[in-house]
Amino acid sequence: MKIDILTIFPDMFKGPFDTSMLKKAKDDNLVEINIHDLRAWSKDTHKTVDDRPYGGGPGMIIRVDIVDRAISNFQFPISKKEKGRIILLSAKGKIFTQKKALEYSKLDQLILIAGHYEGVDERVAEHLADEEVSIGEYVLTGGELPAMVLVDTVVRLIPGVLGNPQSLSEESFSPITNHQPAKLTKLRLSLITSTEYPQYTRPENYKEWKVPDVLLSGNHKEIEKWKVEHARKSTRKK
Ligand code: SAM
Repeated sequence: MKIDILTIFPDMFKGPFDTSMLKKAKDDNLVEINIHDLRAWSKDTHKTVDDRPYGGGPGMIIRVDIVDRAISNFQFPISKKEKGRIILLSAKGKIFTQKKALEYSKLDQLILIAGHYEGVDERVAEHLADEEVSIGEYVLTGGELPAMVLVDTVVRLIPGVLGNPQSLSEESFSPITNHQPAKLTKLRLSLITSTEYPQYTRPENYKEWKVPDVLLSGNHKEIEKWKVEHARKSTRKK
């Protein structure tokens, strides 16, 4: 998968993509991530990318012409459009979910547009982006952190990225993944709409806090039953 990110703060991406799973995915050529400074497509000497909002109001708005010029440089061919997506990170977008992440993980290319300041000219959402995505009902300073959240969530679902793909089918909100086990157990089914059951490791007893007896019993049937009972149903809005 190829991921192109448009931002006016490219330095913010130093670090998160160079450690752990994302680094491994890049090293293994499972994903290529390119960070583009939007200012490269500005035509004036000050490298301006924004302007004041029409109709008045606070802050500065990122210009549509700059974003358009940038996208046209690396947009996937129209014939392949169903294998790529242009995503505008926006607080008013549709809430990002694990299900959406799985959908994106099957594509060949993602182009992410990170806004900043007061936001991005609405014509980007209307005419350039395929989707407007929010990572939650709160406002961040810019779309850079949301872009990192989206990339991290998507990349770990690409086949081959996680050393143990089995873990994907038994984690919170697991949709039917690329690593679907042959048997859809009751536990597996319940995790599609829940967060994961509680997990414990050594020491067995710490202070007064004990690991539930059933998990130490070796009785796989009872353990699975306990896990199903303790997976918390998600009540969050999709
Ligand atoms: N004026 C905008 C509003 O009221 O919705 C907020 C703009 S915010 C300060 C600047 C940029 O941060 C946005 O253009 C967007 O790219 C990004 N952003 C902020 N919150 C976000 C969220 N919850 N999800 C995704 N992107 C977000």
